[in-house]
Amino acid sequence: MIDKILQKDELTKEDLITLLSIEDEQDLQKLFEKAYSIKEKYIGKISHYRGLIEFSNYCIKDCEYCGIRKSNNLVDRFFMNKEEILKMAKWAFENEYGSITLQSGERTDKDFIDFVTDVIKSIKDFTNGKLGMTLCMGEQTEETYKKWFEAGGHRYLLRIETTNEQLYKNIHPENELHSFSNRVDCLKSLRKIGYQVGTGVMMGIPNQTIEDLANDIIFFKNMDIDMIGMGPYIVHKDTPIGKYAIENNLDTNENKKYRFLLGLKMIAVTRIFLKDVNIAATTALQALDPLGREKGIKAGANILMPIITLEDYREKYQLYDNKPCIDDNADKCKNCLTGRVMSVGEKVGFGEFGDSKHFFKKSR
Ligand code: SAH
Repeated sequence: MIDKILQKDELTKEDLITLLSIEDEQDLQKLFEKAYSIKEKYIGKISHYRGLIEFSNYCIKDCEYCGIRKSNNLVDRFFMNKEEILKMAKWAFENEYGSITLQSGERTDKDFIDFVTDVIKSIKDFTNGKLGMTLCMGEQTEETYKKWFEAGGHRYLLRIETTNEQLYKNIHPENELHSFSNRVDCLKSLRKIGYQVGTGVMMGIPNQTIEDLANDIIFFKNMDIDMIGMGPYIVHKDTPIGKYAIENNLDTNENKKYRFLLGLKMIAVTRIFLKDVNIAATTALQALDPLGREKGIKAGANILMPIITLEDYREKYQLYDNKPCIDDNADKCKNCLTGRVMSVGEKVGFGEFGDSKHFFKKSR
């Protein structure tokens, strides 16, 4: 049955569910090989870097799975200054990373918006526009998104987290700040402004079903998404969902293995279904398996996000427990990750943007 589905040109929702449910070792290999062949055809045997700069963990939101949520009083909050951020961007530029991702907890006040605008402009200026910039600063007004686009950001990553609205409600507080429909509207604004638009989900959230994940993939297609950043849910012990998972025995080694595999299967099935989009093998994969990111590439991912955050801040930016690379620095991460890419027979697209092929193919 798996062979038959993998030969089809158009997959139905039932097909997606069947593929996401594979457990047999041989069938899994077939799935990953098929996904990789599609990556090879549409993208090539190449992966691109987005140096990840986590510049602040202040957050006005209270997402119940996230370690830096507003109500977590155990977090030591930090906000990097401009010089620190530019230092990391400069490092990425000099090391030919091609692109960076600026990520932080969410803030919507004027000081924050102006600060980010200034940082984007400065990076754009000193690199002559030759360093790609992905932004990941949560839900903002269309006006703010526009400001940052005009300043030089050209890709934006905003995960929908889950497209099951009830599940979305279960893992977020019920108030204006955490509205599902607003998040969808944000994705539409980003598209309208001209960004390459990225979204994604977490896999293995308590009470999430395989059908939910199939719906997530269909959502990516319906929203004409250019880039996907998704990863397995990982427990953070000082959060409501993390506590729920631990208390209900949902964080055993077996669960972790299940979530990791779900992460790989989602990458593969998304690659097969969407073909030419950018898909990241995220750090969360590596948090659950030391070879997580290599396996992500072999399952069809083509983007890696090495952390280049200055060492002193890494441990303070923990969205989940056991974040990898906390004790590393940017130089070590580069060597380690480049070796990982080469170990699976690929090369790194140094000095290239590595933009979403899907974005440029669309008639707009
Ligand atoms: N505040 C920004 C960026 C930081 S959070 C934003 O909302 O986009 C980036 C992503 O980390 C989130 O979208 C979420 O999918 C992921 N994340 C947060 N907590 C997590 C956890 N416990 N396990 C796995 N991923 C998590």
